[in-house]
Amino acid sequence: MLIDNIGELVTNDPELGVIRDAALVLGDGVVRWAGPGAQTPEAAGTERFDAAGRAVIPGFVDSHGHLVFAGDRAEEFAARMAGRPYTAGGIRITVEATRAASDQQLDATVARLVAEARRSGTTTIECKSGYGLTVEDERRSLEIAKAHTPETTFLGAHVPDGDPDAYVELVTGAMLDACAPHARWVDVFCESGAFDGEQARAVLTAGQAKGLGARIHANQLGHGPGVQIAVELGAASADHVTYTSDADVEALASSGTVATLLPAVEFSTRQPYPDARRLLDAGVTVALAADCNPGSSYTTSIPFCIALAVRECGMTPTEALHAATLGGAKALRRDDVGHLAAGAKADVVLLDAPSHVHLAYRPGVPLVARVW
Ligand SMILES: [Zn+2]
Repeated sequence: MLIDNIGELVTNDPELGVIRDAALVLGDGVVRWAGPGAQTPEAAGTERFDAAGRAVIPGFVDSHGHLVFAGDRAEEFAARMAGRPYTAGGIRITVEATRAASDQQLDATVARLVAEARRSGTTTIECKSGYGLTVEDERRSLEIAKAHTPETTFLGAHVPDGDPDAYVELVTGAMLDACAPHARWVDVFCESGAFDGEQARAVLTAGQAKGLGARIHANQLGHGPGVQIAVELGAASADHVTYTSDADVEALASSGTVATLLPAVEFSTRQPYPDARRLLDAGVTVALAADCNPGSSYTTSIPFCIALAVRECGMTPTEALHAATLGGAKALRRDDVGHLAAGAKADVVLLDAPSHVHLAYRPGVPLVARVW
């Protein structure tokens, strides 16, 4: 298929960059060619789509989501907006509802959220377990997730269920054995009220020994050891990174670990936003993700996250788009998504706008016209 008359094509390719008056050739699920419209190859195919001068960008890569759950926590959100503080404990309400739900109910929720995310331009989405907290409930959460995405993450270590040390033994033992075959990644919520540094290290190293890649919820509610552990263990991503020391920023900058910012969480919990400017200026690779979950960020909208990142975290619109596409791909260690160079997956988004800048410039407006 040929998409032509593209007003602005954001390729995220270092050589192609942003192309005006561009065209894109897709075939067999991959990008065949991207470049100036005047140079469109002769054999571009018979099917043609006229972009009518609008912008085309890579599909969003949302590298952080908790989609397997039941129930919602709208009342908790309303109470928080009325002044009650946010803590890690509300997760237990969702755990109870999730355990009580059938496989079919959970599957329907994941399907609904993946479709919702896609309508706002997300074409790759990561999905964690973490609302089961028993061997069987974590295993089935991952089995349901993997029917919808290859990017599944074992998050048995979301909050301790019972005595923390005994629970870590379960997570690194029988639960990991049952879950590892259904997961690509292992994750842990390293935070006071969840797991400390030593426990987080034990969870991640056990997962790595089973062949899973590491990622971590780090430094969300306060300073902590999470970022340093991520770098030390070669994790693909440290997520949240709201509270960081100079040493944390330096460690991230000199590592292959991506800092994944989740500003919809700060929006929804009334916490201070992470300082993306400081991370970017230090040379840290930054990703932007939605962290869709019923407690602290019940949104699948990456355009909303882009608007927040620009307005509240000090990113430019171009940096925010980059973080939500190529940044997310790096956080998932994928080189086939997040860009539109030849050979990339044909995950393409048409905006009802002449430029990607409109994603932040026109917040709350459904600008995603079409998703391939
Ligand atoms: Zn999360």
